[in-house]
Amino acid sequence: MARLSSPDSSQDDICEVFTDTICSVCHRRLLVSEIAYGQGEGIMPKTGEFINIVCCSDCYQGEGSPVQLWKGDGIACTPKRMDHELQLEAAAAKACAAEAKAQTLAEEKAEAASRAIAAEEKAKALEETGKVLDKERDEANSRAFAEQEKSEVLRAENAALLEELQRFRQMAAPSAGLGSAP
Ligand SMILES: [Zn+2]
Repeated sequence: MARLSSPDSSQDDICEVFTDTICSVCHRRLLVSEIAYGQGEGIMPKTGEFINIVCCSDCYQGEGSPVQLWKGDGIACTPKRMDHELQLEAAAAKACAAEAKAQTLAEEKAEAASRAIAAEEKAKALEETGKVLDKERDEANSRAFAEQEKSEVLRAENAALLEELQRFRQMAAPSAGLGSAP
């Protein structure tokens, strides 16, 4: 019963502005619709709570069971007021559950967002790795090409040297081949 909590409870804003209504005869808390007539403002001696003092319609009409006066341990409510408090309590519990659900949804949303960011970062890293591998492959290809060119040059040089050697052999052939048969 949020409205019945002590008036110095800072967690309940309603208490700070809400002035409760209590019957001066039966000392029950009641609804505005149950007031027979008002008597004025007052203060609860134990809690210092400001209250509206009234006479309830039950006491005014002398109806119902004999009322029990407040002995100082809590304050009773009329049945209508009790219904009202229970409805308030149920509504508060419902709102609390809705808030908890909204909180859970917000947390799930944040988690999904961070998962998406992580996936995006991973994809970016993979893309970077792919670029590095492409670059390495291109470099290896161009190195292989350079090696091939170099070996072709060497082959050409080799062929030229062989040709020159052949020429030297031919030049040397007449004197060297004097004794040999044609
Ligand atoms: Zn009363």
